[in-house]
Amino acid sequence: MYGTDEAGLRGTDPRGTDLYERLKAYEGRAATTSGVGKDLVNESMIRHWCEAMGDTNVAYAGPDAIAPPTMLQAWTMGGLSGHGAGPGRSSAYDELSALLDGAGFTSVVATDCEQEYLRPLRPGDRITFSSVIESVSPRKTTKLGTGHFVTTRMDVRADGKLAGTHRFRILKYAPGAAVRKPRVSRPVPVINRDNAGFWDGVAEHKLLIQRCEECGTLRFPWLPGCGACGSAEWEAVEASGEGTVYSYVVMHHPPFPAFDPPYAVGLIELAEGVRMVSNVVGVPYDEVRIGMPVRLEFLRVDEELELPVFRSLASDESEG
Ligand code: ZN
Repeated sequence: MYGTDEAGLRGTDPRGTDLYERLKAYEGRAATTSGVGKDLVNESMIRHWCEAMGDTNVAYAGPDAIAPPTMLQAWTMGGLSGHGAGPGRSSAYDELSALLDGAGFTSVVATDCEQEYLRPLRPGDRITFSSVIESVSPRKTTKLGTGHFVTTRMDVRADGKLAGTHRFRILKYAPGAAVRKPRVSRPVPVINRDNAGFWDGVAEHKLLIQRCEECGTLRFPWLPGCGACGSAEWEAVEASGEGTVYSYVVMHHPPFPAFDPPYAVGLIELAEGVRMVSNVVGVPYDEVRIGMPVRLEFLRVDEELELPVFRSLASDESEG
């Protein structure tokens, strides 16, 4: 039994209604109303986005350009100075937060977001948006602590028509309330429908990359569409496992639980040409070098987690 929850109920709920019932009552209530994008969809922001992302898709340039779908949220942001008078943040979201705070779930962490695209956005479109508290989960115990997931759905409209949705999930939790495992576990990857195939491959000790069935371009990490031609048709191909260190950083600070700094994080260029972030093993952190040849292997981290890592072949070569 978890103490502060009980205290919260005593303090704020003389009727004895279950806290979860009270949280559920916020489902469907508005979180933001009457939001208006600060700028019309425009070529300049599209160009800056594509440059920052390294996205050269021809669909995003020229007279018939559309905006990259993943820019969806960018059009709704107010920038450093915010939106000024609008959008209207509803009292419901603040009330829900206060209710969770009062029950001891005072910490917050963003867990994931999902977007759905219904129609392309084009320069000149006027963006409006609103958001709703879509769901509040039953009480869950995670590695961070016990709390409730709150999912907010933003509906983004272009000239009044629904263009896409953006779901954003947070966990409001009680810090330090989790039953601690004897040691701190390494963070586990978020597996979703876009990358599940990759992790299925890892389970079979295969490093799978995607190949566009339309134009043949290989891609990694896994994405639902081709960055070169936009096709959503793809097949998984197994990488040979050979690669080189394209770049690397040595992590000193900030320290993360379950990791023991300093350690090297490598950007590995696979023989097939795509790159992935991974660990370089079999060599001290300060001996990792750009161009170092590496070969794939699978590291069993714990009972739940296995990861592709890359073993340095540098020492093999010097010995041979
Ligand atoms: Zn393609």
